[in-house]
Amino acid sequence: AAKQAGKNQFSYFTHEMDEKAHLRLRLAAELRDALQENQLEVYYQPIVCLRDCGIRKAEALLRWNHPIFGLVEPSQFIPLAEESGLISEIGDWVFTEAATCAKRWEGLLASGFQISVNKSPLQFRPRTSQQEWPGFLKDLDVPGHCISVEITEGVLLHASHSVADRLLEYRDAGIQVAIDDFGTGYSSMAYLKKFHIDYLKIDRSFVSDITDASARTIAETIIIMAHKLGLKVIAEGIETREQMDILASAGCDYGQGYLFSPAVPEHEFEQLLAYPRLPRTSN
Ligand code: C2E
Ligand code: MG
Ligand code: MG
Ligand code: MG
Repeated sequence: AAKQAGKNQFSYFTHEMDEKAHLRLRLAAELRDALQENQLEVYYQPIVCLRDCGIRKAEALLRWNHPIFGLVEPSQFIPLAEESGLISEIGDWVFTEAATCAKRWEGLLASGFQISVNKSPLQFRPRTSQQEWPGFLKDLDVPGHCISVEITEGVLLHASHSVADRLLEYRDAGIQVAIDDFGTGYSSMAYLKKFHIDYLKIDRSFVSDITDASARTIAETIIIMAHKLGLKVIAEGIETREQMDILASAGCDYGQGYLFSPAVPEHEFEQLLAYPRLPRTSN
């Protein structure tokens, strides 16, 4: 009987694997049309100043409104876009959407406003003919300081000449650069002296257990180091007031997370800007 059950379990397992693989293939094939058919949408998550909780920035986060599966998360389709090479085209589209919003929203806030756009390592592959992001900003008449680009440590660790050139172009255009998911990638930080970086984003994993002594020490140390190097710090994934208070008293500059707001559609973000102090509850 045990043998029989084991066999059933095995066939159930392979069946599930087949389904997953099948779904992946299906999404990969459909992604190509999703962009043309307006199924992709850029959501915006507020980034607040931890001193006054005012909205200063936003991160552009891609969503796919699939006609059958509903809202598909980026973790499910960004890897597919990377594998197929479609990520550059999609990434350029996200960038122009975000840049257009950044310009409009900057006009609404006195303190200046910036939208950060994620750029995966595969989007740094050398391209021959297509225009780069600083060129898009020129065409759209958007100032560079309205945009920052989020890259991961791996991009800089294996930085080729084309990555270094691209970062210099950003700097010339006034576009800022943030290291995303900081602290999770590599122990080498040599790249911090080699490249011009503006922000470190402390990974959510340190924030979620910031009440533990070791995670707290890591976060505090990242903040001190960043400030000594002249960088600003953004904490990702703040979900509680306690986490916010600990990070604020450690001198963290900005915060992002569900405590303030999840990523929301463009028109909802505009409503947040009308009441720009988050969270709106208590205190
Ligand atoms: P990321 O750049 O590290 O983005 C932060 C992720 O954390 C987002 O997930 C956001 O919704 C989520 N998050 C924010 N606050 C909280 C919180 O308080 N708690 C929790 N549990 N999560 C929080 P999302 O939107 O699912 O995006 C996942 C990843 O997909 C992003 O991680 C980024 O690496 C990638 N991605 C998203 N949009 C784009 C894009 O346009 N281009 C590229 N290349 N990658 C993108
Ligand atoms: Mg990011
Ligand atoms: Mg991140
Ligand atoms: Mg992440």
